[in-house]
Amino acid sequence: MPRTFAKPAVLAPIVGIHHVTAVASDPQRNMDFYTQVLGLRFVKLTVNFDDPGTYHFYFGNETGAPGTVLTFFPWPHVKRGVQGTGSVVATAFNAPTAARAWWTDRLKANKIPFTAATRLGDPVLAFEDPDGMRLEIVFHDGPAADPFATSDIPASHALRGFHSVTLSLEDAADTASLLQQAMGFTSAGTENGRQRFIASGDNAAFARVVDIITAENAPTTKLGAGIVHHVAFRTPNLAAQQQWQTAIADNDLHVTPILDRNYFRSIYFREPGHVLFEFATDEPGFTVDETLATLGTALKLPAQYEGKRAAIERGTPKLRLPTSGVAGST
Ligand code: ZN
Repeated sequence: MPRTFAKPAVLAPIVGIHHVTAVASDPQRNMDFYTQVLGLRFVKLTVNFDDPGTYHFYFGNETGAPGTVLTFFPWPHVKRGVQGTGSVVATAFNAPTAARAWWTDRLKANKIPFTAATRLGDPVLAFEDPDGMRLEIVFHDGPAADPFATSDIPASHALRGFHSVTLSLEDAADTASLLQQAMGFTSAGTENGRQRFIASGDNAAFARVVDIITAENAPTTKLGAGIVHHVAFRTPNLAAQQQWQTAIADNDLHVTPILDRNYFRSIYFREPGHVLFEFATDEPGFTVDETLATLGTALKLPAQYEGKRAAIERGTPKLRLPTSGVAGST
């Protein structure tokens, strides 16, 4: 029998994905791939607040809007992880249907192997980043993030935030119950063992899709390069965050205190299928400590580490930061 979850009495329902965080190995290679090949904007250079000797990279659209943000902990010598159950096994970006041939050509030009398929009616290109992280582009003309254009990716073809994440689970039942009963997702179709759920908090929002695939007898995920550490869902503000924290605890899931991540506030819990979920606030965003024009151009540290800046700068790898800034945006 799947567990049942109480529907929380919260002010603001979940509207979709806030960010995805994964582990990378070589920091420069990671930065170059996401800014140059995929054309994301590097919106924040900081450190892992729980481990300040490690960078924390944030990529997104021009503003780093919730629903566009992909973040990495680059550990230079970390081994590749094992992709199995209990984690996000694919992170999908959204792009206009008219950009499909263009992205196909771009992956070919960059010698990135890919597979092309149709999934629940939408064309999908699936490929991997340099660490083996599984990425997808879903071509779908629904609500989408504002694109970030670069010198060689026009706004008409640029990625427009996330489309979805895919969770691989040994048993999907409890997670499906949690999504639908507690988090306000609705079932939106199945295909080839894939179950689709869509956040119902705001029909005009983007990055609303969570897919679940069931893989019995697969290995358990082992964290390492190319593996997603967690997926975060959007809550608008601190008041909603506090209500969600109570609601999650009331459902007998262990939830962390509210943590200040400078650019958002976070709570974390492991959903019943063992994927680490975070709820992150839309406020205050990435312009809290630098201007929109200069996002990602300097190492930003939270107040508790500012006094250790010199040691942190000595201890972290040297980087060639992207030079584009917002120069290529339209
Ligand atoms: Zn996070």
